[in-house]
Amino acid sequence: MAPSNATPHNPHVVVVGAGILGASIAFHLTLRGAQVTMVEAGEPGQGASRVSFAWLNSYDKNPFPYHDLNRRSIEMWERFRRRLGADIDLVWGGELRWSITPEGAEALAARAKVLQNWGYPARLMDAADVRALEPDLAIGEMTAASYTDIDGHVNTGDVIRACIAAAEARGAELRTQAPVTGIQLSQVGTAPAKVEGISIGEQMIPCDAAVLAGGPDMPALAALAGVELSLYHTFGATILTEPIAPLFKHIAVFHPAHDRPPTVNFRQFSDGVVMIGATAPDNQHDGDRARTDSDVAEIMEEAAAIVPALQGVRVQDVRQGRRPIPRDGESIIGFSDTVPNLYLATTHSGVTLAPIIGEFAAMEIVDGATIDLLQPFRLARFRSN
Ligand SMILES: Cc1cc2nc3c(=O)[nH]c(=O)nc-3n(C[C@H](O)[C@H](O)[C@H](O)COP(=O)(O)OP(=O)(O)OC[C@H]3O[C@@H](n4cnc5c(N)ncnc54)[C@H](O)[C@@H]3O)c2cc1C
Repeated sequence: MAPSNATPHNPHVVVVGAGILGASIAFHLTLRGAQVTMVEAGEPGQGASRVSFAWLNSYDKNPFPYHDLNRRSIEMWERFRRRLGADIDLVWGGELRWSITPEGAEALAARAKVLQNWGYPARLMDAADVRALEPDLAIGEMTAASYTDIDGHVNTGDVIRACIAAAEARGAELRTQAPVTGIQLSQVGTAPAKVEGISIGEQMIPCDAAVLAGGPDMPALAALAGVELSLYHTFGATILTEPIAPLFKHIAVFHPAHDRPPTVNFRQFSDGVVMIGATAPDNQHDGDRARTDSDVAEIMEEAAAIVPALQGVRVQDVRQGRRPIPRDGESIIGFSDTVPNLYLATTHSGVTLAPIIGEFAAMEIVDGATIDLLQPFRLARFRSN
């Protein structure tokens, strides 16, 4: 029997949005023989993906199916890199975090237990273990620590550029400065309306299927096809320093004193640049407003108090943007049930999830597969609640 979303063998697919999800999906579509047109409102990789802390992890992901999706995707990153054949500054080494309150220690131990029961190799540590792992860190007060050695981080800009270059090498076309303004639907008889083409102003690009990967702008994009998305966004910021000497011996991501706001997170690119993510200093407005210059100064002060090597280090860039978050915190992936050749892909943790969403979306679109692991993440779940 033909799959319900069957498209021609080499379908022409328009992918809207060239962030990490759109770029990964476009790349994987070309691997499966699709003809791809990528359409981007601005320039590739300037949305949430640019701001992202890009920690590849499944630490706080619940329930199990969502944790498992993230974990599987972490395991796919090496293969993704090999297929791209490019340097994407993929850094492994795990995540180290510690608490400074008794409640924080309890929470850390409880989470480590859940993760271990799910087969995720989190490990509780004491100060001596941390000192052995990272002898140069100023530990100070600590009630407990945990280390998850399969976590890593990546340079999202490099990934997006590599995906686009590899897709273009397989014949894909990229249209930039091309905001999508309409989705043309056609209806035959009583069958559900299907996407006929994607409009950029007066121009329409005909297609067999369309993918919407518009990050925080997904609700507006999906509304062009009459699809309602349960998605909100929060503001986030990351600060990049000038390059400095290596901060860590082993770890890739560092979350010290994660139970005392503002929490400050660290990772370091291979060129020495340190990326710092932080909650807003007053912790009252985290997520509902952009960071000010004085917020950034306070965050840098806090960061240098924990990592003395950052004292006096120059800030090179402050990235601000919106994180897309589906209403229940999990991903929205799959064909719309009202417009059957319209594929939706949006999520928080889209960096961790880029390899699995790219590969799975391409199979569902080109091969008509219905992937079991994606069933919990269909948009229709919001309607049945
Ligand atoms: C501060 C912060 C920290 C984060 N930390 C992590 C982390 O540690 N680990 C992790 O895995 N994830 C993290 N995330 C989440 C992750 O970055 C996002 O889930 C991911 O980047 C989303 O990618 P995307 O491609 O869906 O969206 P985006 O990168 O926003 O790309 C969407 C693209 O669609 C384009 N677009 C929108 N509307 C239109 C239109 N009408 N026409 C054409 N193009 C359009 C936009 O211009 C944009 O380029 C973080 C996010 C933030 C903001």
